Amino acid sequence: MKTPERMQVEGRALSCVVCEGGTFTRRTITLITSGVANSGFNKEVDAVTCSSCGYIHQFVRGVVQTVEEPA
Ligand SMILES: [Zn+2]
Repeated sequence: MKTPERMQVEGRALSCVVCEGGTFTRRTITLITSGVANSGFNKEVDAVTCSSCGYIHQFVRGVVQTVEEPA
């Protein structure tokens, strides 16, 4: 289980569109756009899941960045 983290997009803090929560876990998911699984021609997206309500936000890969918390 990953620790929820703060995310940003284009330098703006990401907040959940449903509950306005500010922490998320991220994973990469594959969309079967070619009709064939594991063909290498499918699209990958970043799925960012709200740690409060579970709503999944999808982004083109590489757009969402983790905000480094000050130590
Ligand atoms: Zn939420």
